[in-house]
Amino acid sequence: MKVVQIIGPSYSGSTVLGYILNTKKNWFFGSEVYRLLDDHLSAPGKKGKPNPQCDFCGETCEFWNSSLKNLVLENKTNSLDDVYRWFSERNPDQEVFVDGSKSLRWFSGNEKDYQIVTAKHPVRLLASFLYNERKKSGYNEESIEGFGRYVDDNVDWFFKRSVLVLRRVVNNYKEVFEKFPDAFVCKMDELHCDEFLEMRKLEQYLNVEEKSFDVFNFSQYEVHPLGGNRAPYWQAMHSKGKKESFGERDSYYNNAESFGDYKIDNKFFHIVTKSLGERVGKSSEYQELSDILGYETTFPSE
Ligand SMILES: [Zn+2]
Repeated sequence: MKVVQIIGPSYSGSTVLGYILNTKKNWFFGSEVYRLLDDHLSAPGKKGKPNPQCDFCGETCEFWNSSLKNLVLENKTNSLDDVYRWFSERNPDQEVFVDGSKSLRWFSGNEKDYQIVTAKHPVRLLASFLYNERKKSGYNEESIEGFGRYVDDNVDWFFKRSVLVLRRVVNNYKEVFEKFPDAFVCKMDELHCDEFLEMRKLEQYLNVEEKSFDVFNFSQYEVHPLGGNRAPYWQAMHSKGKKESFGERDSYYNNAESFGDYKIDNKFFHIVTKSLGERVGKSSEYQELSDILGYETTFPSE
């Protein structure tokens, strides 16, 4: 069994990429597999789920079941290698295992067959980070447009925050490229551009035929993720006809009508407002992140 490791900061599209790779026969996406390691399983009260479960099957998942978790606990393992090995022994049909554990903390010193670093335009990454911190900033609603007005009213605070966020993301990527200089950088918000040129490059890197992955219908395939970003999860629930639990935010994700979530990423138009954007665009952090990831410094057009 070969292993694909997906590395990248939050909101860079790592989960949706996993769902896409999962569409190929005998390719299995486990999402945030690190949640199975001993540090998490045997640490009750710690942040995060002490008992990680498959998003779709829960306790009854045939892949992420208590017998596998017990193996981790008995061996007190904090190595993803052990999980890959046990998984492969139990599921010999699976040819490629896709691990979306994202962080270098888990992948370091653990180079497998393929490393994909997920990226998005810096302004899109920034918008996701800021929106996720809305409660911290004092905004207690879900509305994205309303949040934009709140950003304008508090633009000094948000500018300072943006610079800190961008600096952290720059450092994160620098560290990743230092450890994995040959990794494939996948621009998730540009997968669909130039007749899927980015997708064709990814297929070449992964040594598979053209159009091996069903990018448009990823939400209709059986998948067993252990957590991760909720946008692809809601798209999958919607494709199964389960939409009754959609809140305002989830229905926004659901309205994306895209194979990935690049339309969702256009929420930056509301969040990185003109007044914030003008200042962010001139910051060295913004310039540096654009440079590292190979994006134009001009903001994307709608
Ligand atoms: Zn499952």
